[in-house]
Amino acid sequence: MNELLKKSAAEQSKALKNKEISAVELTTAAFDRIAEVDDKLGAFNSLTKETALETAKKVDEKIAKGEELPLLAGIPLALKDNMNLVGSKTTASSKILENFVSPFNATVTEKLLNNLVPIVGKANLDEFAMGSSNENSAFKKVHNPWDLNKVPGGSSGGSAASVSACEATLALGSDTGGSIRLPASFCGIVGMKPTYGRVSRYGLIAFASSLDQIGPFARTVEDAANLLEVISGHDPKDSTSLNLPVEHYAADLNKSLKGRKIGIIKDLMTEGLEEDVEKAIQNAIDTYKSLGAEVVEISLPHLKYSIGIYYILATAECSSNLARFDGVKYGYRTPDAKNLMEMYTKTRAEGFGPEVKRRIMLGTYALSSGYYDAYYKKAQQMRALVTKDFVEAFQKVDALISPTCPNTAFELGAKASDPLQMYLTDIATISANLAGIPGMSIPAGFDKSGMPIGLQILAPQLKERDLFNVAYQFEQSHDYYKKLANL
Ligand code: GLN
Repeated sequence: MNELLKKSAAEQSKALKNKEISAVELTTAAFDRIAEVDDKLGAFNSLTKETALETAKKVDEKIAKGEELPLLAGIPLALKDNMNLVGSKTTASSKILENFVSPFNATVTEKLLNNLVPIVGKANLDEFAMGSSNENSAFKKVHNPWDLNKVPGGSSGGSAASVSACEATLALGSDTGGSIRLPASFCGIVGMKPTYGRVSRYGLIAFASSLDQIGPFARTVEDAANLLEVISGHDPKDSTSLNLPVEHYAADLNKSLKGRKIGIIKDLMTEGLEEDVEKAIQNAIDTYKSLGAEVVEISLPHLKYSIGIYYILATAECSSNLARFDGVKYGYRTPDAKNLMEMYTKTRAEGFGPEVKRRIMLGTYALSSGYYDAYYKKAQQMRALVTKDFVEAFQKVDALISPTCPNTAFELGAKASDPLQMYLTDIATISANLAGIPGMSIPAGFDKSGMPIGLQILAPQLKERDLFNVAYQFEQSHDYYKKLANL
């Protein structure tokens, strides 16, 4: 592997500007790495070589002319395969979209292309972003670069694995209940979910629209902050997009934490926590104390309901969002239907995988007359209480910390036949989506078998700069982020 691929985007940018390597060479090196390891990893559904090299060429032309480069120009990036890129297949890892070619660009894609970021391929995911292990892809499983017998986490497993294995330096994922933070934690990298509305959802295949948010993967906090700067901003094409200026999210990375208050979420430090994970979080607490912050215990009394709330709201929203996949306009259509109704039912029965069907059924049930008040409405009311817990907590502290997951990456197949066990994996991440607050996972050590442990940091809405600051101060106090999977 070209040694430069192991470096951060910031370092790669410098190398490009200093003409140590050209953008075409760097992008080609990424494709060589993909050719070397992706048969083992399964991180990519498809490669977009032409687009990537075309973009890289433009970067080199700018460099040759001595022009200023936009942020992250020339840095190889993997796009989760539920975001549209013109001319590429956008499958959401579902059979129903297996041959769907994007006729338009997602807003994030447009922004990446404007900044001349080469998009190397479409990253594998759990079908329609539903899952925590990436085993729900209709095409192939993604393997964890640290141990190929283990899951990379989901649903953005391909995005996380590609960055962890240095196939790409950056990636985008989507996070509805933890799908960026969980795989970041399992793969030992940085993953960040912005405030709901920071990043446009236009061109992202919708799962649960009131929870979905696109965010960055990187190997350093600084790179993640810069990638968020590239993709965020108001978009009239998404009615929930916030009309706020784009910030320089890396502006406060070096700010001292002296006198700041950090809350440790007590409710997530209870039974079920693996011993090594608990130790890593204790180490994080000590680190923050030594950096001059005051660390206090915070209780979020409604957090224990968050999985129940999420699996009513997310499934209700998905049952509505996925109604459009009916074989009429695009995507898979059953070849042998006798009439229209049979065409609908057969198309959906053959096109969707078991987890997607389970969710559509659960959500349809929760929304049906007679049950709506008992389930959907109750869940909405409870969502407000979870949000209130955070509002109250952030009156006392500047940021909250917890494990990203009570355990490290598990064996492939270990939870695949038990949906409830799989759902419980997201206990620490889901509440941030319910409350719309920004959160991230950063490398915080390793367990006895060498698997990465993630530290989750949460901040109040729109306080991304503080979030990156708190993350960066921890990151720079240790070498965890420097260790790469040996693949
Ligand atoms: N694991 C959760 C689920 O299966 C979250 C997925 C996500 O954030 N997209 O729904």
